[in-house]
Amino acid sequence: MKIGIIGAGVAGLASAVRMASRGHEVHVFESNSYPGGKLSEFELQGYRFDAGPSLFTMPQYVDDLYRAAGENPAHHFEYERLPVVCHYFWEDGTNLLAYAEKGRFAEEVEDKLGVPPERLHLALADSQRKYELTGRIFLEKSLHRLDTWLNGRVLRAMLAIPGLDLFTNMNAVNRRHLKEPRLVQLFNRFATYNGSNPYKAPGLLSIIPHFEHHIGAFFPRGGMYNITKSIYDLAVRKGVTFHFNTPVQEIIVREGRAEALRLDEREEPFERIISNMDVFFTYRKLLPRERHPERTLRQQKSTSALIFYWGIRRQFPELGLHNIFFSEDYRTEFRHLEEGKLFDDPTVYINITQKCEPGDAPEGCENWFTMINAPYDSGQDWDSLIRQSRKQILDKLSRMLQVDIEPLIECEEVLEPRTIESKTASHLGALYGTSSNNRMAAFLRHPNFSSRIKGLYFCGGSVHPGGGIPLALLSAKIVDEVMQAES
Ligand SMILES: Cc1cc2nc3c(=O)[nH]c(=O)nc-3n(C[C@H](O)[C@H](O)[C@H](O)COP(=O)(O)OP(=O)(O)OC[C@H]3O[C@@H](n4cnc5c(N)ncnc54)[C@H](O)[C@@H]3O)c2cc1C
Repeated sequence: MKIGIIGAGVAGLASAVRMASRGHEVHVFESNSYPGGKLSEFELQGYRFDAGPSLFTMPQYVDDLYRAAGENPAHHFEYERLPVVCHYFWEDGTNLLAYAEKGRFAEEVEDKLGVPPERLHLALADSQRKYELTGRIFLEKSLHRLDTWLNGRVLRAMLAIPGLDLFTNMNAVNRRHLKEPRLVQLFNRFATYNGSNPYKAPGLLSIIPHFEHHIGAFFPRGGMYNITKSIYDLAVRKGVTFHFNTPVQEIIVREGRAEALRLDEREEPFERIISNMDVFFTYRKLLPRERHPERTLRQQKSTSALIFYWGIRRQFPELGLHNIFFSEDYRTEFRHLEEGKLFDDPTVYINITQKCEPGDAPEGCENWFTMINAPYDSGQDWDSLIRQSRKQILDKLSRMLQVDIEPLIECEEVLEPRTIESKTASHLGALYGTSSNNRMAAFLRHPNFSSRIKGLYFCGGSVHPGGGIPLALLSAKIVDEVMQAES
């Protein structure tokens, strides 16, 4: 079969590998001159930066792609498990290392926060239980096919519904297990892993710590961009043809079937089409004549981000690869995000790949990817918000690290909701498609296929099962399974 894929984001690349591995002729059309979409990189005055994602979990989904392609992942893609997942800092002077190993993490939590280890173990065990009950149904399968619902796993999950915390929010679950406010804040932060608000998102999202503390957080050798590069190289080896600088203009539908792609003035026929473009724009821009699933397209968006990429001419031994400097008022910070505003005491995240890849910064320096959560774009005066926020972030970091940071900045680049949208066609600059702030969110994401237009499929962070690299990779796997089941 001849298959056309719109977009070379990580899910588009993964779909290309899966389709080519089944012997299909695959063409990928990408607007940008490079693959990866949000998962890209750039260099600035001798510093290398991963542009988007910085946290890598569930590497087995990348390994899976190699296996599907008949190759050994270890020969092409290297990654290491992080012994310390994150360095946490609070304004009261508390610093805490989140060790990957649970026993060590519990000791640290007891030592720094005075919380008995049983509480942490209880929270992590609850996270694991929920994941095991629901993960394979809600994440690894299409929710929109009957065969997903007709098996024993679903029945077990249904029976367990009262214990899944679907009707309470994540903050309430974390308070119930952990009690200590700083530890609750630390666990509430996991809601941001898919751009949600812990005071609204269902307690079921407390499965997220399971990814980090049972399965692990990882660093790909060469940096996050190596995920893109290795999957792209694999796709090329499998015979996929890439067309860069080639935006798709329209999906041509005839008699209810997607038959071709319009590229500038020419039409190219395909038997199957997979869109890795944000589902909102796939409908609005590429399918102007078709009926649109309005309820799905109008779902609340996930949060976006404001990022300062800073070349820092000094090293900070107290910092690691992932670092969080918490806000003193987390609830108000999320309320601001909901209202489309930036809070003046934001939680600041710094990612420094130079800690794992010394060549990512000049000698004696560090590459800081400094990020705060931001609302999606609703026409705010971003230029003035960015100016204000930059100052607030610098004041906070200088206070908490007891060093004046601004004079150490050697070079700077900024990414914000408007440029996230313009660089990757992500509607309103949302990082993770739609938010998970209500318990029906999982069911309201667009399926991985169109039930109206035959031959049209969807992958990527804006459709089922959701945003983030692991789920984007799973979406490609589900598309493949759905197509197989149809053939
Ligand atoms: C700042 C930031 C931080 C993040 N942090 C993390 C993290 O730490 N961990 C994590 O797992 N995830 C993180 N994410 C989310 C993660 O990056 C995304 O969920 C994932 O990369 C989405 O991949 P995708 O396949 O949906 O494609 P995208 O990356 O959205 O790419 C879509 C591609 O389609 C192309 N395209 C669009 N329209 C057309 C068209 N008409 N024709 C041709 N091509 C088109 C675009 O140019 C783009 O290359 C982060 C995202 C951002 C932006």
